[in-house]
Amino acid sequence: MDCIFCKIISGEIPSTRVYEDDRAVAFMDIKPITTGHLLIVPKKHSRDLIDADDATLAHLMSLAPRMGAAVMAALDADGFNMGVNTGAAAGQIVMHTHVHIIPRYSGDGLVHWGHQEVTREQLAATAEKIRGAI
Ligand code: 5GP
Ligand code: ZN
Repeated sequence: MDCIFCKIISGEIPSTRVYEDDRAVAFMDIKPITTGHLLIVPKKHSRDLIDADDATLAHLMSLAPRMGAAVMAALDADGFNMGVNTGAAAGQIVMHTHVHIIPRYSGDGLVHWGHQEVTREQLAATAEKIRGAI
């Protein structure tokens, strides 16, 4: 399969790894948002969060706080963001499930997304659609 993260996992493409177990690897993002930005990647290929099986998701979620705590301790970071882009519209570029761990430093200048002002009625109408799809 022509998947860049599968090639990184197999060693065909080099990466700078910080962690590996039987089901996942964590390596440095080649274009970090902040110093220490790393990716947690399951060895079993899946396209995205929706495609991944529950055991894979559970393992990723157990690794995320461990990796986050490690970058905070190692790099004296003040926090971290965990991110998963799902779908091209959400900014997913590599179509192999992965979790971003982005260390945050007080005053690093990164800004969060803006919010919309909506009415209670709009919230209720949107929630009703979602409930029907779960
Ligand atoms: P996405 O936008 O798909 O959630 O994130 C993909 C991430 O993978 C990006 O942050 C990008 O910098 C990183 N990336 C893309 N190609 C490579 C690569 O060959 N090696 C490493 N280490 N990271 C990569
Ligand atoms: Zn893959």
